[in-house]
Amino acid sequence: MAVRISPLMDRLIDALRVLPGVGPKGAQRMALHLLRHNREGGRVLGRALLEAVERIGYCPRCRNFSEGGLCAICDDARRDRTLLCVVESPADILAIEHAGGYRGCYFVLHGRLSPIDGIGPDALGLDVLESIVAGGVVEEVILATNTTVEGEATAHYVSEVLKAQRVRLSRIAHGVPVGGELEYADGGTIVHALRGRRSIGGE
Ligand SMILES: [Zn+2]
Repeated sequence: MAVRISPLMDRLIDALRVLPGVGPKGAQRMALHLLRHNREGGRVLGRALLEAVERIGYCPRCRNFSEGGLCAICDDARRDRTLLCVVESPADILAIEHAGGYRGCYFVLHGRLSPIDGIGPDALGLDVLESIVAGGVVEEVILATNTTVEGEATAHYVSEVLKAQRVRLSRIAHGVPVGGELEYADGGTIVHALRGRRSIGGE
């Protein structure tokens, strides 16, 4: 148990624990560091955090993060709108963009099917995805959910939802290790997984 110092300090330490991987000791160290060595950094962090959580929403088209209106990728006329890559999270977009080589668009599920956690098809925005594909511009949907059990089940479910539509469906190759998460794969692996994607139906 961390030692209590002052009410405001205690509140700061408790608040820092919303960050993933930060326990009581780590939070205490961060709080002490900011107050002792970098109050200006703390102000910048506080303002950035507040503005980000209040002003960053979701792109109405791909569900990626966006500050009102289309995200930077959907808004970029140079992106190939005939290719749509379906991913579990915005972190996967960052990983794929960082790997380079993909010039299509994305759709973010913000999760994966997980009945145990109460995440069903409705939470994944599949109605939005269906209407995008029904628009007729997309020629291929690349299912780039993780190669975990839930990711595979999700890819299968999405392919079932879309298979009645006039669109090619493909699944990323298993260059991403089985049970692996895209977010943590290296760039070369991601490039290989996308290039080696295999058709799983549709036309
Ligand atoms: Zn977008």
